[in-house]
Amino acid sequence: MADDSSPDRLDVLAVAPHPDDLEILCGGTLAKLVRQGYKVGIFDLTSGEPTPRGSLETRKKEAEEARRILGVPLRVNVELPNRVLMDGPDARFALATQFRKYRPNIVIVAAGRTPAASPDHHQGHLIGEAARFYSQLTKWDERFDGTSPYRVPHLVYAPFPFESEQRHWHSQFVVDISDTIDAKIAAVRAYESQFDSARFSRVEHMIRSANGFHGARCGYMYGELFALPTPVGAPDLVSLVNGSKGSLAPVQIPGKDHLPMG
Ligand SMILES: [Zn+2]
Repeated sequence: MADDSSPDRLDVLAVAPHPDDLEILCGGTLAKLVRQGYKVGIFDLTSGEPTPRGSLETRKKEAEEARRILGVPLRVNVELPNRVLMDGPDARFALATQFRKYRPNIVIVAAGRTPAASPDHHQGHLIGEAARFYSQLTKWDERFDGTSPYRVPHLVYAPFPFESEQRHWHSQFVVDISDTIDAKIAAVRAYESQFDSARFSRVEHMIRSANGFHGARCGYMYGELFALPTPVGAPDLVSLVNGSKGSLAPVQIPGKDHLPMG
């Protein structure tokens, strides 16, 4: 585990199938994490091409511009195939190799099924979970470019909007992105080949509505929704509830005369 002190080591590694997915799902949080001083990397499983209006060249430029706008220092393309992205051993090896190289504390995986959009999204979710498991395996270093085993401590889901199953994600939480919503919108706008001005205004409306809704639930102007694969463990109920600074009004303890009941 000597590599754990490597300068390449990331605090947060976020992964999704296509350049633009992470910007839409959690671009505000990624920009915020960078501003908070964390080391963040964006990992695109595919180039996102072909698409009706894009090209490899333009998509690459747009992804780089979006990275710059968010302030994320690292963007890696895992170079798996777009449109036919499938969970399977080779895709798992390819992503697990990145996990073993960058040894992140947290992996954010774009998650959920999107039957009205690309099937790559669901496959990326499966690949992300499997790669996290594979990353720790011993006696298989040759399958991971000679890197040494690494156990990713934490997995976080960034659910796709319109996730079809409306599943009851465990342990949902919302990150306040009120200060980075504009950077997020600008990063999505960088993908001009995907969003001409008519499409962009619909996408911006969708993002502001969804992030406005999730934020409002927690007392923020804008928020991004995440989930964990497990319940949150709480050694102390009070500190857990009070821990989400700013999202809860201070508890008012009524005087004895004003107790609503009994
Ligand atoms: Zn996508």
